[in-house]
Amino acid sequence: MKRREEMNFWERLYIIEVVKGVTITFSRLIRNFFLFAFGYQKKLIGVPAVIQYPDERRDYPERFRGRHRLTLKPNGDIKCTACFLCATACPAKCIHIEASEHDDPNIEKFPDRYEIDTLLCIYCGYCVEACPVDAIRMDTGIHPEVYPPDPRMFIEDKEVLMQRSRDLEDYGPKVLYQMHMQKMQQVEKEPTKEVKYG
Ligand code: SF4
Ligand code: SF4
Repeated sequence: MKRREEMNFWERLYIIEVVKGVTITFSRLIRNFFLFAFGYQKKLIGVPAVIQYPDERRDYPERFRGRHRLTLKPNGDIKCTACFLCATACPAKCIHIEASEHDDPNIEKFPDRYEIDTLLCIYCGYCVEACPVDAIRMDTGIHPEVYPPDPRMFIEDKEVLMQRSRDLEDYGPKVLYQMHMQKMQQVEKEPTKEVKYG
């Protein structure tokens, strides 16, 4: 449809259009307020306009890029070889690695320190794609952690990232997500009570 470019006389007055706009905005606001207040939203339009997080959840697609994890070898050791490819590919420059020599002569290097600053991360997944040994994944199915207001807590270290792999193996993605929702419900009910993050 071709957009009309010329304004008619009433539109040129602007005030009528402004009043029309404000009327529409406020009528929707009031309508939605009452629909939500009395819980009619679901019945009237079929689906809720919002998700009542953390009581309700939206199913994420299979390829959803969630929290990072560092994968492990069958013996529980870290898979990462500290090649720095992920850190080089990262557009946000939020991966920090310190490599060390390994005691085992068959292993060249390992990350003594591996950290992701999740406040800088844009969850693009380039790190996962860049890794030649499948040592980093974003398949936890859980969206980024909301830590308390201390920026240092948003830096996820090697231990946190490795523990996620263990948890995923022990519980599976469904139970992990359920645990996350329960934690967020607890945070909502008792914001001052300490919870385990990760
Ligand atoms: S998801 Fe993107 S921004 Fe985040 S650590 Fe990986 S490469 Fe960097
Ligand atoms: S996670 Fe993969 S790409 Fe990153 S340093 Fe380790 S082995 Fe290299």
